[in-house]
Amino acid sequence: MITPTKPSTWIDAVPCAAKDGYVPVASQVDSPSDLIAASTPLMQDCADSCPFISRCYERVRPEAGRFDGVCAARVWINGRVVAKAEGAPALSKLPSRAGSCGTSGGVAGHGRVGEPLCGECREVALRAQVRSAGPASIRKRSRGKRSAAAA
Ligand code: SF4
Ligand SMILES: [Zn+2]
Repeated sequence: MITPTKPSTWIDAVPCAAKDGYVPVASQVDSPSDLIAASTPLMQDCADSCPFISRCYERVRPEAGRFDGVCAARVWINGRVVAKAEGAPALSKLPSRAGSCGTSGGVAGHGRVGEPLCGECREVALRAQVRSAGPASIRKRSRGKRSAAAA
């Protein structure tokens, strides 16, 4: 579900504009089965009549925002797909908004926008973990050597 914040041609033209039900009420969030039942016809409308499915997905970024409701011909709860319309197109991987991937800033950026780490940033995070664990493991090893030499 797109909520316009400023005039934009495609957002003004989405079939769900000003329609209710795309974002759940609190009682539906507490009952996933109610949410899915109420949202199924809406997500099917997306697949059948909306030409902006990819743009909707890019704008809402449901995974990162832990979105609940209908977006891109799917029903989402807490940023995960729980139902998908018949004929819903596959969704492309979204470009990250984390900043510079492959740096410590990228690792922090993924966390900031609520994304899992990409491959490059995972390596950076792992190297940082090994670096911070390094001195402790070196100390342990050298203590072990000393006691072996004393025996
Ligand atoms: S895909 Fe569905 S929720 Fe998204 S803009 Fe189109 S009609 Fe609205
Ligand atoms: Zn990254």
